[in-house]
Amino acid sequence: MPKKNLFGYPIQELQDELVARGESKFRAKQLFEWIYGKKVYDFDAMTNVSKAFREVLKDEYCLELPKLYTRQDAKDGTIKLLLEMEDGSKVETVLMRYNYGNVCCVSSQVGCNMGCAFCASGLLKRDRNLTAAEMVGEVLILNQILAEEGENVSHIVVMGTGEPFDNYENVMRFVHIMNDPFALAIGARHITVSTCGLVPGIMKYAEETIQINLAISLHAPNDKIRNQIMPVSRAYPMDKLIEAIKYYEEKGGRRVTFEYILIAGLNDSMKEADELAKLIHDNHIYAYVNLIPVNPVKEKGFLRPSEKAIHAFHDRLMKAGVNTTVRKEFGTDIDGACGQLRAKVEGKL
Ligand code: SAH
Repeated sequence: MPKKNLFGYPIQELQDELVARGESKFRAKQLFEWIYGKKVYDFDAMTNVSKAFREVLKDEYCLELPKLYTRQDAKDGTIKLLLEMEDGSKVETVLMRYNYGNVCCVSSQVGCNMGCAFCASGLLKRDRNLTAAEMVGEVLILNQILAEEGENVSHIVVMGTGEPFDNYENVMRFVHIMNDPFALAIGARHITVSTCGLVPGIMKYAEETIQINLAISLHAPNDKIRNQIMPVSRAYPMDKLIEAIKYYEEKGGRRVTFEYILIAGLNDSMKEADELAKLIHDNHIYAYVNLIPVNPVKEKGFLRPSEKAIHAFHDRLMKAGVNTTVRKEFGTDIDGACGQLRAKVEGKL
């Protein structure tokens, strides 16, 4: 039997498992205090746990973290890590420093199958899902690095490589561990999951009781353009996507963020800005738009619009009454674009 990695357990699940084997429920809290409070990962050092139970832990459980494979530091403080998992898979994790906190961009899969035309992650097909323990590991490794400067991760965005709703259960376990007051204690409002628009995932997410943020990678105001750059749009066209978002809102979900990559000549004209505003207004969606000038991936031939075009698009949406920001860019001097570092290391860029 492979050992079970304790980093993948929400506290409730650990409590249930321990109780089922005749241990006291309190053990789970004790273990969480060692792991997340004291950051002690050696069972033998957990002195308030009986010796007999420490032996059980050593036999059946482990506390396995990913290994740091490569680290890139940008001038603006952005840190990009390439982490190696136990089976040799490599995933990217990024730290972005906003004025409101330290944001960790977490990968949810090894590679991705969504095939978005502008994205470097898709250059490498999905190998497998990441486990909750591996995603927790991404954050803990970053926390170890930040501890050297007396900092820690304060916000989580599941916006790294992979489609989180294609790995729904593990991502939700991960989110619960981040949010748990006995684990990372990151407020639900500081956690965002981003999807390319997998409708069944959005419907499920609408039913969750935890109030985390939802971001939708929209990138186009209509199916015609969306179909050209996002294959997922053929399976879940705009009307179905909007329906799912409305359902999420009705169920008490928080304001959604629409991410919109601006690509020169493709989706950046006033016509698309107007269409996007109309889409939001006509459907009475309480949305916020985040414009992202495309991070050019040479191999894909998508170009960034001029500053003038970016601002014109932003102004047009604002004037139409849509709350819009242009995303701050990080790490432009390192392999900033999604999946670039890994693709380079694996010889695809
Ligand atoms: N699969 C999820 C999360 C991972 S992608 C999703 O699609 O939302 C995270 C974000 O980065 C998405 O909005 C994605 O469209 C965007 N992205 C991918 N490649 C990019 C590029 N070259 N430039 C700018 N943003 C990019």
